Amino acid sequence: MGNPTVEQLREQVRGEVLTPGDAGYEEARKVFNAMIDRHPGVVVRAVNTDDVVAAVNHARENGLDLAVRGGAHSVPGFGTVDDGVVIDLSGMRGVRVDPTNRRARAEGGATWADFNSATHEFGLATTGGVVSTTGVAGLTLGGGIGYLARGVGLSCDNLVSAEMVTADGRSLVASEHENPDLFWAIRGGSGNFGVATSLEFQLHPVSDIYGGPMFFELDDADTVLRFYREFIADAPEQFGGFPAWQIAPPLPFIPEERHGETLLAFVACWAGPVDQGERALKPLHDVAPVVAEHVGPMPYPALNSAFDALCPPGALQHYWKANFVTELTDEAIAAHLEHGPKVPVVTSTMHIYPINGACHRVSSDATAFAYRNANFATVIAGMWPDPGDNEANIQWVRDYYQATAPFSEAGGYINFMSGDDQSRIQANYGGNYQRLVDVKRTYDPDNLFHVNQNIAP
Ligand SMILES: Cc1cc2nc3c(=O)[nH]c(=O)nc-3n(C[C@H](O)[C@H](O)[C@H](O)COP(=O)(O)OP(=O)(O)OC[C@H]3O[C@@H](n4cnc5c(N)ncnc54)[C@H](O)[C@@H]3O)c2cc1C
Repeated sequence: MGNPTVEQLREQVRGEVLTPGDAGYEEARKVFNAMIDRHPGVVVRAVNTDDVVAAVNHARENGLDLAVRGGAHSVPGFGTVDDGVVIDLSGMRGVRVDPTNRRARAEGGATWADFNSATHEFGLATTGGVVSTTGVAGLTLGGGIGYLARGVGLSCDNLVSAEMVTADGRSLVASEHENPDLFWAIRGGSGNFGVATSLEFQLHPVSDIYGGPMFFELDDADTVLRFYREFIADAPEQFGGFPAWQIAPPLPFIPEERHGETLLAFVACWAGPVDQGERALKPLHDVAPVVAEHVGPMPYPALNSAFDALCPPGALQHYWKANFVTELTDEAIAAHLEHGPKVPVVTSTMHIYPINGACHRVSSDATAFAYRNANFATVIAGMWPDPGDNEANIQWVRDYYQATAPFSEAGGYINFMSGDDQSRIQANYGGNYQRLVDVKRTYDPDNLFHVNQNIAP
């Protein structure tokens, strides 16, 4: 018996199995970040759990690198790998809603667009990302930050169970009652512990929200950031949103003469009763004159897809850096004011997400996601179209990050971090790191799942 061949894999798998030269291979090797240009030996487009098991076994038995891809949004490109095996879950995107018990089960390749449209039918939602093309699994397994986090917790806090294919090719359930150590680890530990073929979530009554983007003058940025720091500390938990640097795009609600100017944006989301929305956003409206806005009642999925057009899949080069922040000090704000307005292109930005409220009510050791005392998760997101501009854009992100790092925690949100941040992984998990290593030794002692922000066994 030799090592299993790709031909044997093709016989076992119901989905497509693509190798270099096959029609569709070029498309199948692409991920969201256009900077990533890798050539896998084989891409398995799984359509069910058995396909995932076969692909995991094929990689393990042949000693091949294995990358797992859900929504393909990983900025470091963890959804692909040179020469090895890619499990592409984009053919497994079903979402089933149980409105009576307020639960939804999403397959491992579902995006937030798939999820939100299914749950919105029933006036329900849970915390997801702010761009609808991001994968449910990748985002949730790393934590999951979004508009609803202050009210109902991180995405991983709403995870009830997951079906996991582990490195030995078994299909297991991870929940509070079954394999609880695995369940603890996948709520923040990212793709280190296996392939999630489905994830079950707790839902909450959220249908239409009141919110959208507002733009302020750069001269008012200091005032708005200071206001945000104070306001968000005890704002009602149905209030979500974040400040962002933004070169004004050519959108109809922005005066034409301001297009192309750098402004401070605030994207607000009031998820309480819609008729209270105007009052809820009034403090923000009153803080400084608003240059332009597109604020009002809208379906929750509409806000979650409002920025999709700014970052089309495969069209931009991405380089990001991230920090957790406990206190947004005057010095930190000064660093933001120095570097933010230098944002080089309309697609690049910096967001300061609030992660207090319900996120703080989970103790630091209750899930792998450890930063439960941090108030903010900052991301400096470099996203630009022309590879010829890589150096300048990466430098903007690095300079900005260096300037804010002294006023931040040692760790950053794992899902916003770069490929060159592996030295910070231990800091990301603080006191939970050793327990993660122990769980990794139980479920993946040979580190088959290493194409990720890796927790080495
Ligand atoms: C435009 C954009 C917007 C974003 N917005 C947000 C946001 O609002 N909030 C937020 O928290 N994060 C956000 N992120 C970060 C996002 O959470 C991470 O990039 C996340 O890893 C993406 O998951 P994915 O499934 O799309 O990516 P992939 O590249 O497919 O996977 C990312 C990682 O997760 C693993 N993975 C994916 N699917 C599975 C699975 N089914 N089982 C096991 N492992 C899996 C992969 O192996 C890989 O390590 C954003 C990213 C981008 C590019």
